[in-house]
Amino acid sequence: MINAAILGAGGLGKNMALLIEQKKEFNLVGICDSSGYLFNENGINGLTVKEAKEIASIPGSVPSSKSIIDLISSHKDKINTIFIALPNLPNEFIPNVTNEIIKTGFKGVLVDALKRTRAVEMIKDLDPELKKAGILYLTGCGATPGLLTAAASLAAQSFVEVLDVTITFGVGIANWDTYKATIREDIAHLEGFNPEIVSRMSDEEIIKELDKRNGVLELHNMEHADDVMLEFANVCSRDKVTVGGLVDTRNAKKPISTNVRITGRTFEGRISTHQFVLGDETTMAANVNGPVLGYMKSGLWLYDLGVRGVLTSADVMPHLMPAKENYLEIQEKQGYQKEKEPIGRKEFQKMMK
Ligand code: NAD
Repeated sequence: MINAAILGAGGLGKNMALLIEQKKEFNLVGICDSSGYLFNENGINGLTVKEAKEIASIPGSVPSSKSIIDLISSHKDKINTIFIALPNLPNEFIPNVTNEIIKTGFKGVLVDALKRTRAVEMIKDLDPELKKAGILYLTGCGATPGLLTAAASLAAQSFVEVLDVTITFGVGIANWDTYKATIREDIAHLEGFNPEIVSRMSDEEIIKELDKRNGVLELHNMEHADDVMLEFANVCSRDKVTVGGLVDTRNAKKPISTNVRITGRTFEGRISTHQFVLGDETTMAANVNGPVLGYMKSGLWLYDLGVRGVLTSADVMPHLMPAKENYLEIQEKQGYQKEKEPIGRKEFQKMMK
């Protein structure tokens, strides 16, 4: 089994605990938030994490004001991979946490879902230190950057030159406070705001900004790391990448379909566009945590091959992990309803005969 830990038990961290429980091979052994940390080598139950108001309220947890470092320092030998699901406000927060993780002597794979260009550049700058420390760090492995950036990197293979990458995302969440960091970081992209300003704002001030916009954030030309990641991966220069989106903080339904369009010129001189559209039923948690888990698996594969330092999701494709045979039962216990599967093409053809 692969022992995983999660730093941060907010919207993404809690849902990751549920997802890990449905998968073979992975075992959640550690999780922390601002209140403390929990470690259990035999595995931590997803629902226990989801239902807890804070980690320190779970029996067996350790209250701590420096829970990240306490969890890793005390149990690093039992952790193979870590998902950093922390708010990145201001920009240097996760890079600073990474420096602290290096000092603990942890050896293994770190994966984040960082969003801003500057933040990913800061992680990239830590490459020599991470190599020296024996850590492989996969950055920008959420949905965007992440799944869509990797899709752009794959789609680029059809072209000799990539001319344009346009990412448009739609997010629908019923309450902003289930994903506080995500929404704060989105507000930081609006005119007149930046990560420093938003990190100093109270929750009440955030609610006021959301009220002004009927709970909907319209985001254009974002400073999103998909650009620099596609540049590092030699797909195209960063100025060819545009990211924007629509985030509804009062409605779980996606306001628009998330998609990436990759336009390029083929070896035959034709200009064409590939498009990759995510299913509207897939939530932000599904599209961020799935790829993060896949990159943890790819990261461990690369780690065993001796790779250390910093790579991005555009450099590596995520590996899929099989679900447990009883994952539907687990889903039922977690309170999810089973949806009827659509009829497959083969079944349909059989029916028509
Ligand atoms: P959240 O606000 O819901 O949760 C953050 C968690 O971190 C909380 O449990 C909090 O207690 C904990 N935390 C904060 N400071 C801490 C500290 N010093 N020590 C220990 N724990 C601490 O966050 P979220 O909405 O789940 O987002 C998490 C991250 O994921 C954000 O950085 C966000 O930008 C990123 N994200 C990326 C994508 C993507 O597609 N790439 C999409 C959504 C979110």
